[in-house]
Amino acid sequence: MITDSQGNRWYKGNLHTHTTNSDGARTPEEALRIYKELGYDFIALTDHWYYGGAGEYDGMLVLSGIEYDWAKDGCYHIVGYGMNSDPGLERGAAPQQMIDAIKRCGGVATLAHPAWSLQRPDKMILLDGVDCTEIYNSVSGYPYSARPYSGTLIDVATAYGYRTVLTAADDTHFYGDEVGRGAVYVKANELSRDAIVGAILRGDVLPTTGPFISCSAEDGYFVLRCEAGCRYVQFFSNNYFNPDTTTTGGVVREARFRIKRADRFVRAEAVDFEGRVAYSQYYYLR
Ligand SMILES: [Zn+2]
Ligand SMILES: [Zn+2]
Repeated sequence: MITDSQGNRWYKGNLHTHTTNSDGARTPEEALRIYKELGYDFIALTDHWYYGGAGEYDGMLVLSGIEYDWAKDGCYHIVGYGMNSDPGLERGAAPQQMIDAIKRCGGVATLAHPAWSLQRPDKMILLDGVDCTEIYNSVSGYPYSARPYSGTLIDVATAYGYRTVLTAADDTHFYGDEVGRGAVYVKANELSRDAIVGAILRGDVLPTTGPFISCSAEDGYFVLRCEAGCRYVQFFSNNYFNPDTTTTGGVVREARFRIKRADRFVRAEAVDFEGRVAYSQYYYLR
């Protein structure tokens, strides 16, 4: 847990984890112990087609979780967590049925690793009710795969109307290097299922592989602050030409992007001196 300069509490979590209940290399008990020892405040065990129940482990909040997949007409992996009961889907259910079932049980529906899945933005915008999308998925990167980052793909979908909360997760299988790499910090008053799920749905979430940032819209600017300092900041919008895309030089603690009339969304990424990245949420404009 981090307390920011305004006194807000940000709880650290991993929202996508596999165990021996599907294709993960560690038991649920071992998985919980490993993340507890890494200092995480909450976790969801999201085995493939296996409902992991809610609970608590040595003070760490455990959210219920599951991951569904579909690979008939495009590849879709839908992660659900925070459900109040097992959605009870059978294999063969379509992506929209997965989303509907997760939400019917009070859970958060997440489109997992769209870049790894070679998702199509024109298909993404047809999904109804997706709450979150993974902008970073650790196990989809080096050395296990090669597409951990989905930001460009989600930007294209967003330019055509997709709306989502961004998250990052390890998608842990306990191969080794993916553990503890991609996390979320969630701004909440307390560590409880309702507080964490509510904050995620509001977008009070910071996906990151390291740095801690804050972002806000101020007087026509989208402003990113990184108190610890980072190497550079980049801004992303639906426009091709942006004169103030990059802020770099020395230690960057604040970067500003002037919002222009044609901008429909803005977001930012801050890269630290070890190459780790913090991702802002989307700021949508009319
Ligand atoms: Zn997956
Ligand atoms: Zn997974």
